[in-house]
Amino acid sequence: MKYSSCFAKTSKTAPADADSANAKFLIQAGFVDQTMAGVYTWLPFGLAVLRKVEQIVREEMNALGALEIFMPSLHPKEFWEATNRWDNVDILFKIHSQTDKDYALGASHEEVVTPLAKKFIESYKNLPFATYQINTKFRDELRAKSGVLRGREFRMKDMYSFHTSQEDLSTFYQKTLEAYVRAYSRCGLNVKVVEASGGIFTKNPSHEFQALTDAGEDTILACSTCEFGQNIEVATVKEGDACPKCGGVISTVKGIEVGNIFDLGTKYSDAFDLNFTDESGERKKVLMGCYGIGTSRLVGAIVEACHDDRGMIWPKSVAPFQVHLVTLNSKDDVVKEQIEGTASDLVRDLEAQGVEVLWDDREDVSPGAKFADADLIGAPLRVIISEKSLKEESVEWKERSSSESRLIKVTDVIADVIEFVK
Ligand code: ATP
Ligand code: MG
Repeated sequence: MKYSSCFAKTSKTAPADADSANAKFLIQAGFVDQTMAGVYTWLPFGLAVLRKVEQIVREEMNALGALEIFMPSLHPKEFWEATNRWDNVDILFKIHSQTDKDYALGASHEEVVTPLAKKFIESYKNLPFATYQINTKFRDELRAKSGVLRGREFRMKDMYSFHTSQEDLSTFYQKTLEAYVRAYSRCGLNVKVVEASGGIFTKNPSHEFQALTDAGEDTILACSTCEFGQNIEVATVKEGDACPKCGGVISTVKGIEVGNIFDLGTKYSDAFDLNFTDESGERKKVLMGCYGIGTSRLVGAIVEACHDDRGMIWPKSVAPFQVHLVTLNSKDDVVKEQIEGTASDLVRDLEAQGVEVLWDDREDVSPGAKFADADLIGAPLRVIISEKSLKEESVEWKERSSSESRLIKVTDVIADVIEFVK
């Protein structure tokens, strides 16, 4: 993609009211645009990242054997009344229509998926199964803040599983927990798996996935040696205690909740009378689990974890593009043509190999401004073609995560880039 053809550009200054690194950099770099508090447009670069994150999550859910569906965001009031959540969930957006009907905007989808599952579950032969969607959620948050970390309209992957026994549910729950850790790690993010209360969902135990960064809203009591962690809201340990698992020291850290899984038991099966016939002909309640990952929040969490004072530093797996190609202007027409020719050959050959390239082809912008934009946008690799580099039949190679740059021969670039993006 040529930068000159992209309408959504970087701005020279960061938004004055940015309260977090992700708000500052995602907006300044033209990845998202704020429509109003907590509501964003995902612009081409931001959408590219969001799609990659969601594809990683999708692959991990598919590997669990879950099947993808797409549920509506407009929900009938009756379903939310059936679970007693119409009047008791303060963040629920409610709509009153001109035909005098009431609807909820999907804050979560148990109210849709449980009646849906009921249409397909008759006996134990129809179980177990899991289904998920990646969709927009609406929540009337009192305070939308921290960029895409807490929105009123945001993206979530939510999966629901249906089982005949607690043992089967627990096995699937554990497999999902491991798939979550893999998904975050593939996105370049380390998470702590912490024990949590079920919140509005259930009294059963649940687990949160916390990206440990100072930008986090949640306070976590975490072991500095092993995996053990608890959310402070339910914690049985306190700072300075010995870790109940390994004896290490418990300390207080900040985390961003990027996912949450729940053993729901029969909470929603009770509400919708979701039963199955077991092998002996007895009618029993279906057991359910639900599993959420805030995919747009995850993009924000990656920025919080991966940036410096100049901009974002995208992990290769979720970068909007791998290579940020910068061509520098020359006053000499012959050299200028040579630079452009080298650049367009490089872009063509890299794209043919499946490497995504942003080519900053602007002619009216100084080298310093182009480099600042490259740092802000944060692609893993910057390649510069200039009169100086071509004198050595080379391009300049600079990785975003390193301060060093070096010259490499034009003839070696393709192979080196392919090796780099692997
Ligand atoms: P929080 O405690 O941060 O309000 P929650 O516990 O209410 O979140 P869940 O119902 O567990 O959220 O939703 C699953 C996931 O969706 C969360 O782990 C989080 O990653 C994401 N999420 C929740 N609320 C928001 C929001 N307002 N904006 C962006 N992502 C969100
Ligand atoms: Mg939660």
